[in-house]
Amino acid sequence: MTRIFPDYTYGPGPRAKCWWDETIAAPDWPTFEGEARVDVAIVGGGFTGINAALRLAGAGLSVTVLEAGPPGFGASGRNGGFCCLGGGKISNAALTRQFGAEGRRAYRAAEMAAIEHVAAQLKLFGIDADTHSKGETVLAHNDRAASHFIKEAASVAEDYGVEPGIHSAQDLTSMGMATSAARGGLSIPLGFALNPRKYLFGIVDAAIAAGATLAAHSRVTSIAPEGDGHVLRTEQGRLRADRVIIATNGYSSEDLPGWLAARYMPAQSSVLVTRPLTQAELEAQGWTSHQMAYDSRNLLHYFRLMPDNRMLFGMRGGILSSPRVEKLSLQRVRQDFDAMFPAWSDVESPFGWSGMVCLARNRTPYIGPVPGRPGLFAAMAYHGNGVAMGSYAGHMVAGDLLNQDADAVPAAMRRPMGRFPFGRFRRVVVPAAYLAMKVADL
Ligand SMILES: Cc1cc2nc3c(=O)[nH]c(=O)nc-3n(C[C@H](O)[C@H](O)[C@H](O)COP(=O)(O)OP(=O)(O)OC[C@H]3O[C@@H](n4cnc5c(N)ncnc54)[C@H](O)[C@@H]3O)c2cc1C
Repeated sequence: MTRIFPDYTYGPGPRAKCWWDETIAAPDWPTFEGEARVDVAIVGGGFTGINAALRLAGAGLSVTVLEAGPPGFGASGRNGGFCCLGGGKISNAALTRQFGAEGRRAYRAAEMAAIEHVAAQLKLFGIDADTHSKGETVLAHNDRAASHFIKEAASVAEDYGVEPGIHSAQDLTSMGMATSAARGGLSIPLGFALNPRKYLFGIVDAAIAAGATLAAHSRVTSIAPEGDGHVLRTEQGRLRADRVIIATNGYSSEDLPGWLAARYMPAQSSVLVTRPLTQAELEAQGWTSHQMAYDSRNLLHYFRLMPDNRMLFGMRGGILSSPRVEKLSLQRVRQDFDAMFPAWSDVESPFGWSGMVCLARNRTPYIGPVPGRPGLFAAMAYHGNGVAMGSYAGHMVAGDLLNQDADAVPAAMRRPMGRFPFGRFRRVVVPAAYLAMKVADL
């Protein structure tokens, strides 16, 4: 197994102080041992893998999910909980040029369907995931960004058929959304916030009830063809599966399968969570709203006041990964938090952690077969927005195995992932890319 970040990234260190762990206990999944045979093996137990398992087990197939870490180890158990539009970074112009107006519409419709999919899962399985927020609000970090909101509102209305609200800086103050810098706002009435670990473990229960087998601490070390199927090896077992779904996103390896080499770009995102803020502290800052929000930077900050009045604040993480870098990275998050919410500069943030997201050269998610490996499928690359899109992609890739809904996956998400330059050393381009984005944000 070859992975492009240091081992520290894939261990318990970066998520040691994850707030979500305090909110719900992890279920007990056994380690996979010995030999077994199933219809479908799924590598990775996050939103993608569990949503796929749920659909396949519900359709009567035998399914085993192999997860390298403990339950909820990956990004799905440690994200910001924004169940929102997104999943790719492709522009409308590029979508139209490459896939036509119909392709663009289908792509934007899938973003909405992804949110609806999660909302439906919560309802269907009676999962209480501490949801809040009616859509999301973008805060302009400068006047130039605010001046673009009229055009952006028109584009959102055309893409999603909803009416966004445009707010002045004064409006934001009266809405209880005052930061040190916001020059205006754009509210998009789609999406909501949730506790990602409660959502994940809720669908885990549903997948188990549907008949899926889930194994933790069961890292897949190889996937080899055997007859019409595949053999997946873990340290303690050998699983024979007719078909395999790769659901490893930012925790993927270059050789699982080899097709993935240089086709995914893992990147870190970091989050802090404060202690509960008092009403007086909320009013002192002028932020009393539970609306989820992010700023208009390319290197954006995302933040929301949770139902228990703790503030969650996240942004891109470091380029390197080690205990020292992790510490520095969280210090940087704290600095940006203090700059945006100066009234809270003395408020403790006892929780802070990092995790991996996944980018693709095409700037779109991928859902579909692994080229050149019949029987292998993959769903990944949500560009830091995989609560909704990862869930939907897992559901849709399961549909591929069941020969259902194939036409519902937009063409843009069917185009196989392209290769990044520099192979295993592709992370070298990231500092320059971040710098360019930072300059564009000025
Ligand atoms: C700090 C942070 C904040 C984020 N905030 C948001 C947000 O607010 N909204 C949003 O939409 N998205 C957010 N994201 C992104 C979102 O969490 C991810 O896109 C989504 O969780 C991806 O789900 P997944 O199931 O594809 O991957 P993951 O949840 O990462 O799961 C992949 C799993 O594969 C396992 N794995 C890897 N290799 C192997 C192997 N060889 N054998 C067995 N198992 C293996 C890993 O251990 C891991 O658990 C955030 C991400 C991070 C890190």
